[in-house]
Amino acid sequence: MAIVSAVANPDGDRRRLALHSPVDGRPIDELLVDGAAEVRAAVERARAAQIDWAARSIAERAVILRKAVGVISARRAEIADTITLETGKPRVEALGVEIVPSCDFLNYWATRAHRTLRPHRQRLHGYLRPFKQLYMQYQPLGVIAVITPWNAPFVLTLNPVVQALLAGNAVVFKPSEVTPRSGEWVARVLHEAGVPADVVQVLHGDGETGAALVDSDIDKVCFTGSVGTGRKIAGRCAERFVPCSLELGGKDAMIVCADADLERAAGGAVYLSMFNTGQVCMSVERIYVVESVADEFIELVTRKAAEITYGPGDKDMGPLFWDRQRDLVAGHIKDAKEQGAQVLVGGDVGEGDGLYFQPTVLVDVHHGMKIMSEETFGPVAAIVRVRDEEEAIRLANDCRYGLSGSVFTRDRARARRIAARLTTGSVVHNDAGVIYGCPEAPFGGRKDSGLGQVNGVYALRGFTHAQPVLLDRWQPKRESIWYPYTAKTTRDLDDLIRVGFGTRLLRRILS
Ligand code: NAD
Repeated sequence: MAIVSAVANPDGDRRRLALHSPVDGRPIDELLVDGAAEVRAAVERARAAQIDWAARSIAERAVILRKAVGVISARRAEIADTITLETGKPRVEALGVEIVPSCDFLNYWATRAHRTLRPHRQRLHGYLRPFKQLYMQYQPLGVIAVITPWNAPFVLTLNPVVQALLAGNAVVFKPSEVTPRSGEWVARVLHEAGVPADVVQVLHGDGETGAALVDSDIDKVCFTGSVGTGRKIAGRCAERFVPCSLELGGKDAMIVCADADLERAAGGAVYLSMFNTGQVCMSVERIYVVESVADEFIELVTRKAAEITYGPGDKDMGPLFWDRQRDLVAGHIKDAKEQGAQVLVGGDVGEGDGLYFQPTVLVDVHHGMKIMSEETFGPVAAIVRVRDEEEAIRLANDCRYGLSGSVFTRDRARARRIAARLTTGSVVHNDAGVIYGCPEAPFGGRKDSGLGQVNGVYALRGFTHAQPVLLDRWQPKRESIWYPYTAKTTRDLDDLIRVGFGTRLLRRILS
């Protein structure tokens, strides 16, 4: 919801927040804030409930979670209504950005979790192989705290929650205070599918509630949000050695090579910087186009951006989701203009009561401007002309963020070569944000963009402790290196190093 403000609460000690529509500012809801006592009670319930949940097989958990796909499918209209009410995003984005990937994630994780998390034998190498057998098992961590932002409130909550549950954990999650009811749907859908009430619980509130959850008796924090909050959470977790994954902000670069399909590149530049009103962590925030094709590219981008409709109802673009975000985007554009940026399209807040911002195209921008160095999170395509790909790579890497990036070229080998030199968590060829929608692809940032990953095998395993169990296979009559140490012990070790590792053939056998 767009505008969040405190409300007087005559009958109790719990704070209330008033929530207003980003479309027209009208009041739409009121939120009762959960304090430290509610957080503590929820975590205690979760810890008790986790024991039975973990005792079920992965297959049993997967059956329940797969049912949730059907629940989302059946209730998609209501879920989309809530998302649209709270964020103002067009219905097509509620369905396409939130509900379709949520169904896909659930379906994927429920089907694959068994393969990733089942106990398995792992072949040992070398001289221990005759004596020992390695067995890997994945233990649930216990209670996972999931804290999420407002820009894609349903899918960004559902994805980590589902992984944590499949791994046998209980989850207490806190959606953003800007979009609480969209987040709440995650608990409703999962309960309806059969996840016990205390195994997945939702808490409401702002940073205070989030901080109380981080400080409570939890076993891991899975956070998605801003760099500033991520830093605070990492500090609190470090003090207690509680593991955390941090999916933070980005300032993703798009590189347009001389051989790019310019129609696609221009369409991508506009869509990938402006869908969800630009409020996407891996949206295109900086565009570097090679000089030889820059004029044509900029002309195409300008034309396409000017055609975007925005406003209430099902236009191409909805409002920014809260007032702070509109002020931030306006501040970045003002700073850029003052430093010489040229506005080719838009450049100002939209008309009316809603939190609209005009689709905006900027040129003559440089890295001394906020628009090129800080996360803007708004519908802005900021374009820089570069001499060649080398300069594009250098500028793309000249950034404190490192979430994702994109390369537009007709040559896949060139895309791979450039990707290898980008210091980003991921790189996409001729596209961008779709990377989050591939659960197989480990998604996570480098530099200030975060720590750990939300997708891929290691994200799912990250909700467990990977426990190696070394089983006995065959015992020698006498352990050659146990007490008492003798001259023979020393000789045997010396022989192992001299003979075993001293010749190429035996080195290979022992490897
Ligand atoms: P935010 O950091 O302000 O808030 C995120 C969540 O943290 C909210 O639920 C908030 O209530 C809670 N919170 C705030 N202070 C807290 C504290 N001290 N302790 C614990 N929890 C606290 O971020 P936001 O403005 O809601 O979200 C936008 C940011 O999220 C952008 O920077 C965006 O790039 C980032 N984001 C990253 C990803 C990713 O996958 N990398 C995805 C989406 C959004």
